[in-house]
Amino acid sequence: MKYYSTNGQASFATLQDAVVKGLASDKGLYMPERIKLLPQAFYDHIEDLSFQEIAYRVADEFFGEDVPSETLKQIVYDTLSFDVPVVKVKDNIYSLELFHGPTLAFKDVGARFMARLLGYFIRKEGKEQVNVLVATSGDTGSAVANGFLGVEGIHVYVLYPKGKVSPIQECQFTTLGQNITALEIDGVFDDCQALVKNAFVDAQLKQHMKLTSANSINVARFLPQSFYYFYAYAQLKKQGKADDLVVCVPSGNFGNICSALFGKKMGLPVKRFIAANNANDIFFKYLKTGKYEPKPSVQTIANAMDVGNPSNFARIYDLYGKDHAAICADISGATYSDEQIADTIREVQAETGYICDPHGACGYRALKEGLKEGEVGLFLETAHPAKFKSTVDKILGADIEIPAKLQAFMKGTKQSIPLSKEFTEFKKFLMN
Ligand SMILES: *Cc1c(COP(=O)(O)O)cnc(C)c1O
Repeated sequence: MKYYSTNGQASFATLQDAVVKGLASDKGLYMPERIKLLPQAFYDHIEDLSFQEIAYRVADEFFGEDVPSETLKQIVYDTLSFDVPVVKVKDNIYSLELFHGPTLAFKDVGARFMARLLGYFIRKEGKEQVNVLVATSGDTGSAVANGFLGVEGIHVYVLYPKGKVSPIQECQFTTLGQNITALEIDGVFDDCQALVKNAFVDAQLKQHMKLTSANSINVARFLPQSFYYFYAYAQLKKQGKADDLVVCVPSGNFGNICSALFGKKMGLPVKRFIAANNANDIFFKYLKTGKYEPKPSVQTIANAMDVGNPSNFARIYDLYGKDHAAICADISGATYSDEQIADTIREVQAETGYICDPHGACGYRALKEGLKEGEVGLFLETAHPAKFKSTVDKILGADIEIPAKLQAFMKGTKQSIPLSKEFTEFKKFLMN
C-alpha cells in the first residue's frame, strides 16, 4: 500500500517510509491510498471473534501487502495484550474502557503497535540501532516509553520538563530502565520540543546516529486505533445493542476519532459520531461555521485535549473530500467548560456509581445531551480516572483507588539524567 500526503506536494511513500518519517516532506499527514470495505460476512459473525482476531482482520487490510501475515499477526497479538471492555453505565449509554493497558490510557494501543512495526522494519533491514526521541508534557512519554520497552534495536529518549509533570506520570517513564532513557530538562515542555526538533535537523547528529520520532500523527500509531471500534461493535452486537449506534469520542488532536471514521469507511455500522471537546472548541466551531480557525490552546482539567490546532483535522478533511456538509452529516460536536466537566463527573458517580475521568466525562455528557430516541451511545473512556487523581478526588471529595499497575510504577526507582535546555549539551550527550 502506498501513502500520500494530505498536502499533496510530497511523493507517495511506502509504509516503511511513512512510519520512519512520520510527517511527509511537505508537512502533510500520510493517508493510505485505499480504504477497503470489509465483506458483509465479517460483520455478520463479528460477535463470534476475539479482539485479536478482529484486529488482525482489520490490520490485514491496511498492512497486509507490506508485512508478512505471520509477522503482522504477531505484532497485533502482542500489541493487544489487554482487554478493552464495553461497560454499561446506564440505559443505552456504554463506556468503552481503553485504560486497561500498561499506562492506563488509549495511547498504549498505537504506541505498542508502532514499536513492534518499527522493530520489524529495523530487523528486516539488518539496520543499526534506531533512536526514538520524544518530548512529553506527561502522557505521550509514558505510552511511548512503555510501548517501546524491550523492543530490540530501538532506544528511546524521553525528554520532559523538570518539575512540570505529575509524580504518577514521571514514574511511568523514569523507572523502566532497559532501552528507555529519561532526560529531565531544566525548562518547560516547549524547550523539550525544541531540543528534539533541533536534533532532527542537525547534520552531524544525523550522521552519528539514526533518529526518528514516535509522534502521534504517525500512521503506525493512528491506524491501529481503529481496532477497538470494531471490537466494541462486536461486544454491543452480542447484547443486541448495536443498531443505531452513536460513538462519542473525547477529542484533542482528533487522531482517535479519525481512526473511527476510517472504520466507518470500512463498513463498520456506526450511525453517527460525536466529537466531544473541552473548552478548546476549534472543531466544534468548524462544524458550525465551515471555517477552520486554529488558536492557542487553553488549559483545562481534561488536559490531554488541550489542543488549539488539531493535527488530524487534515486527515478528516481529506477523508471527506474537503466537504463541510459531508463531515457534518457524519459528525456532530460538543464543547464543555471545566465546571461542566466537574458537574458531569459528580452526576455520573451519584446516579450510577461509575467514575469518569475528565476526558470521558465530556464524552458521557455529549451522549446524554445528544442521543435521540432509540439510539445507543458508546463513549470512550480514554484514560483511567486515577491518572488524574488529584483533579477527580477534589471534584468528588473522595480518595479514589490507584490500580495496582499504577502503584507498581510508583514503587520503582526513578532514574533520569538531568540536562539543561541548551542544545549543545543535549547534542554532546547524544554523541557520547
Ligand atoms: C490523547 C488523549 C485524548 C485525545 O485524543 P486525540 O486522539 O488527540 O483526539 C483524550 N483523552 C486522553 C486521556 C488522552 O490521553
